[in-house]
Amino acid sequence: ATPTSIMVGTGRAAQLGVLFRQGDALQQLKSTCIVAFDKTGTLTQGHPSLTNLQITGEHEWTSNQILQIVAAIQHQSEHPIARAIVDAADAPQPPNASKQTIEHTVTSVQGFEAIKGFGVKASVCVDGQTLAVAVGSAALMRELGMNPAPLEQTVNAWAQMGQTPIHVAINQTIVAIMAVSDPIKPEAKQTIEELHARGIQCVMITGDHALTAQAVAKQLGIDSVQANVRPEDKATVIQSLQTKISDPNKAGKPVVTFVGDGINDAPALATADVGIAIGTGTDVAIESASVVLMSGELNKVVTAIDLSRATLRNIH
Ligand code: ADP
Ligand code: MG
Repeated sequence: ATPTSIMVGTGRAAQLGVLFRQGDALQQLKSTCIVAFDKTGTLTQGHPSLTNLQITGEHEWTSNQILQIVAAIQHQSEHPIARAIVDAADAPQPPNASKQTIEHTVTSVQGFEAIKGFGVKASVCVDGQTLAVAVGSAALMRELGMNPAPLEQTVNAWAQMGQTPIHVAINQTIVAIMAVSDPIKPEAKQTIEELHARGIQCVMITGDHALTAQAVAKQLGIDSVQANVRPEDKATVIQSLQTKISDPNKAGKPVVTFVGDGINDAPALATADVGIAIGTGTDVAIESASVVLMSGELNKVVTAIDLSRATLRNIH
């Protein structure tokens, strides 16, 4: 490719809202055969809301008290799940919820800890009493020595509907399960269809529950799912896709593109042959990517690939 054609191609791309941070990406993108997507904030809007809250086990806590305690901790987390819970706790209570008014007050949160890919924990002071609170996945509960198995049926039912289940433990007892749901981006399904039409395989990589991930993937027609992937392992999944022989008749390694928005996605964006960051995502993701979709619209992934193909087709 001539430097001029690359310049023209990247200029045209910028007009269409696709920023090529590296000229090399324009050349690589034309031969991409796998596009891997992060789920939350990439295929989905990244603004989940609380859809379920169920008390579990024997204790005196009401659902509203649990919500307030969890929200107090989540104030210190930057995860989209945290925002969903804080928003739900701040929402005005329905008129028939008068019995659930806050009889307990959270006075302080101490020793906040975010366990990446698992959840959060902290000590919460409620009416002078210090509680050890943990919020997160079933794996987090097991890690802390609790048994989430009896809740699995409900949790799985929620996950099968595409909701992300969350467990809440107070002083080593699972007192509630919650679920948050993140709407799929309106253009996501068509984007996957258009990638398929171009002979490209679509993969999802997420830290979320396997059933939640599968439910979302199914709605979108995504070919394969890697769920429960810890943040530090997303790049390893990209590496395994890069070495996979998808077509034994084709020589060479498959060119893998990764699309993501989060801090978690930075290593995968850097490892992929082409890293595409959602422009509305985090700065760390943008800095690790070679391509940025300025508006965050997913269909711009197709625009970028088409431009790459067209630019390099015109070069003789
Ligand atoms: P994703 O790929 O969806 O961004 P993450 O690695 O950020 O995944 O999170 C994986 C899982 O860890 C979530 O599905 C959730 O179960 C748990 N988790 C992470 N952060 C929080 C939090 N602040 N509150 C509750 N659960 C959390
Ligand atoms: Mg994300």
